[in-house]
Amino acid sequence: MCSEKTIFMDYDGTIHDWDGVFKRSLNGVLGLSGEEFFDIWTYRIHRGIIHEEYLDKHDNIEFHCQLLFEYLGESYDEQISRNIIELLQEAQEKAKTMPDFFPDAIQTLRELNENGYTLCLSTGTGVELKAESMKKMFGKNFFSFLFSEPLLGYLKTEPDYYLNALQRVNVKPYEAISVGDTPLSDILPAKMVNMRAIWLNRRGEKWPRDLRVKPDFTVNNLLEIISLLSK
Ligand SMILES: [Mg+2]
Repeated sequence: MCSEKTIFMDYDGTIHDWDGVFKRSLNGVLGLSGEEFFDIWTYRIHRGIIHEEYLDKHDNIEFHCQLLFEYLGESYDEQISRNIIELLQEAQEKAKTMPDFFPDAIQTLRELNENGYTLCLSTGTGVELKAESMKKMFGKNFFSFLFSEPLLGYLKTEPDYYLNALQRVNVKPYEAISVGDTPLSDILPAKMVNMRAIWLNRRGEKWPRDLRVKPDFTVNNLLEIISLLSK
């Protein structure tokens, strides 16, 4: 794999423990524990129904809430829905002001920097803030390029996101590799433009059956990519 010297690194779920922040913030809503709420929201609603049937509503939180009530077999409650939206906004704020980084991620970024890789932070939104919070906490700027959906003008689920980013770094697809935890935004679109991709599967999940591409490698800890890349 030594031909790839540019790495597109996802942020939430890969470097930053967004799931933990989310679970703590939503704990108790609709009588669900943070863990239960997170699982239903993420796997049934977001990655299940939204990714499969309503990709155009990817960022529409109110619509997510409507699906949540439907999933739970309860009638829609606007007040609770508003409360969920507020709690999610607070969680997003918390993630910015008090981020919770995975220790293996920071060590991996340091080693990749030392080994001369070009690192690109590749995320949905708020890329400048995310990079800034890491710089503040670790006293170091790990990334040569910052990419986000507003900046590139494409959703991270779209192959054009990756094509546009590759142009900006001025490398060919085979010279770059995408690393991240979400099959639909970190792996599938990268593979569609002929990049290689490593799926970070921290929780030992199954690869989605209906996805027609597979990652080149799967790891459950980010540190594993260092030996993979140097092979
Ligand atoms: Mg992610």
